[in-house]
Amino acid sequence: MGLPVRAALVQAVGGPFLLDEVELDGPGVGELRVRVTASGICHTDLTYRAGAGRFPFPAVLGHEGAGVVEAVGEGVTGFEPGDAVVLSYYSCRACGTCERGHPAYCERGYAGNFSGARPDGSFPMRWRGAPIRSGFFHQSSFATHVLAHQHNAVKVDRKAPLELLAPLGCGFQTGAGAVLEAFKLQAGQQLAVFGVGAVGLAAVMAARVAGAASILAVDLDAGRLELARELGATDTYLAAEPELTKTMLKRTRGGVDFALECVGIPQVLRQAFEVTRPLGTCGLLGLPSPEASEVTLSMTRLLYGKRLVGIIEGDADPKTFIPRMVALHAEGRFPLEKLSRSYDFEAINDAVHDMEARTVIKPVLRMHGGSTR
Ligand SMILES: [Zn+2]
Ligand SMILES: [Zn+2]
Repeated sequence: MGLPVRAALVQAVGGPFLLDEVELDGPGVGELRVRVTASGICHTDLTYRAGAGRFPFPAVLGHEGAGVVEAVGEGVTGFEPGDAVVLSYYSCRACGTCERGHPAYCERGYAGNFSGARPDGSFPMRWRGAPIRSGFFHQSSFATHVLAHQHNAVKVDRKAPLELLAPLGCGFQTGAGAVLEAFKLQAGQQLAVFGVGAVGLAAVMAARVAGAASILAVDLDAGRLELARELGATDTYLAAEPELTKTMLKRTRGGVDFALECVGIPQVLRQAFEVTRPLGTCGLLGLPSPEASEVTLSMTRLLYGKRLVGIIEGDADPKTFIPRMVALHAEGRFPLEKLSRSYDFEAINDAVHDMEARTVIKPVLRMHGGSTR
């Protein structure tokens, strides 16, 4: 008999979230049972709700959880009940890729994050007596309690503001990690960011932290560009502006050191590549739709020492990078509160609606009403 907890279930492709009781297993080897305080909603949750995982529903999604450890399984070291944790993506910490310091590309990452099951294929949650797809990113954080793994939990101060910190586990890490870990942007360099939602704005904040000489932001939405400016963008452009590439090349005297595509649209990747200067790097963060995932680029321009790189989770190791973002936030240099809005767990469908309508940048669900823990 598992522990009865509340979870938001997706019952069919594209369907609404249904809050109901599910049963959660006890923590297995290496696992932690976490009482979830808050969970961010990331675009990847919506992509999976739309069927990207090709696994059968019902399923419990959610992968930006933060909360308090309630119980630990066999073999867990470094965590005890009462610890506050931010949850991130799973990595095995033992394969060649993990050992080379790139856990975002872990050889077991697909099984541990995207399969809708534990890495061994089992399911931590049951609904009406039957196992359901859960363990998404080894958490499925759209629930009051989850099983995480010691490899994807990061301890933070017990007094830390978990509701603000929850989205550090994916979206904010992706944008900030790309700039600070993948690019290792240096003071005086230039960055262009295409698409300033949660990921792009995290990139803007990180570039300011690193001392970028100019930060160019592009978006469809004037309101978001205003926020980008407030967070550190030096130049902002509406995506619809005619001759935008030319304007940006002129402004940067031949292109930026680094460009980031944060929306997953082929034409936008081409534009980001075009404003990258010779010897510069263009990074892709956006997840394309399967129907439009091919791009045409100039091979001639590529020859000029340009690099084009895909980046998952900012190529950041959450065990070190999340504490770094927490510290920046505490210093006031990573003002997360300007990007997120809280919703009660019961209002998850409203939160998703607002996200899709682009009236909120980062919705964060509070799992236990008004209580902060
Ligand atoms: Zn690994
Ligand atoms: Zn995500």
